[in-house]
Amino acid sequence: MNTIIEDMRSGVDEEGIARAGDILKHGGLVAFPTETVYGLGADALDAQAAARIYAAKGRPSDNPLIVHIADWDALDYIVEEIPEEARLLADAFWPGPLTMIFKKSEVVPLATTGGLQTVAVRMPVNEVARAMIRAGGGYIAAPSANTSGRPSPTKASHVMDDMDGIIEMIIDGGDVEIGLESTIVDLTEDTPMILRPGYINEEMLEKVVGSVKIDPAVSGADTKARPKAPGMRYRHYAPRADLIIVEGAQEAVREKINELVQEAAACGKVPGIIGTDESRDLYQGGLVKSIGSRADELTIAQHLYSILREFDDSDISVIYSESFETPNMGLAIMNRLIKAAGHQIIKV
Ligand code: AMP
Ligand code: MG
Repeated sequence: MNTIIEDMRSGVDEEGIARAGDILKHGGLVAFPTETVYGLGADALDAQAAARIYAAKGRPSDNPLIVHIADWDALDYIVEEIPEEARLLADAFWPGPLTMIFKKSEVVPLATTGGLQTVAVRMPVNEVARAMIRAGGGYIAAPSANTSGRPSPTKASHVMDDMDGIIEMIIDGGDVEIGLESTIVDLTEDTPMILRPGYINEEMLEKVVGSVKIDPAVSGADTKARPKAPGMRYRHYAPRADLIIVEGAQEAVREKINELVQEAAACGKVPGIIGTDESRDLYQGGLVKSIGSRADELTIAQHLYSILREFDDSDISVIYSESFETPNMGLAIMNRLIKAAGHQIIKV
């Protein structure tokens, strides 16, 4: 298949959007930018189109898709009921990086929800994304546009690496703003529960709806519990190299990583290091990459997946990473990093 690339880095191109809408309405696949990561879109109400997403990604069929809408009025058709909390949260955070779980209405096929009676819905803020959703019929199922098990794409070139020749179109909207997938909140129980941490954190949600719980399997409170979001159960985002996180006070972490680098050098190996703008010059040896600045935690989120992809393209076989328990996005950043590391953590 010849994958069409539409350049919308400087904004919505109506003709390109019409072509994307046409592909989507005929059951095809279009990758598109959102503020979180690139999505791989198909008509959410067409079971066969949704099935094509699973095939293109190599995604397990029990891992449900998020349905993307462009307008609040679209929600009613695909959900059984809209709880009051959802109205409040939508007022505060939609359009934006928040996904809410509802009981689904009968128009949503089980192929889209991975066999569940609930449906995840999000309204992205990205204008290109919303124009494309409207052109495609209003309901676009979209997981991240990566091959299953690879880091989520944060720029169009990442999508091309994974999806070129497999899908009909990729819309290039430049680099994403946030770099981590949306926060997922389940509204089908009495108290809203965070199933996946993201840019919108617990404190921000609590300001709007009072008490919020975090899935204990995700907060780290219960390491044996089974995560409620099926996608959180899989080993995701695994880089080719062995990734080991070193956790502790920043100076002690740097000392430990320098020590590990020396040990590796003694065996003739060059390890990779994930540091920050503040620490990168303090390492002696190793291939150091800065993930961003501790003074601006969003830069750390933005570059996490691209740095993992860069290491995949090198012949580095082991990577040591600092840990990033930053004030607002720390839970989300560390959730993704710990999964990428397959839970290998050295505490100092
Ligand atoms: P991705 O778009 O690749 O970030 O994947 C979507 C995430 O949303 C996965 O972790 C899914 O398991 C989760 N998800 C989607 N629908 C539901 C649902 N109905 N209930 C719980 N989790 C869901
Ligand atoms: Mg994903």
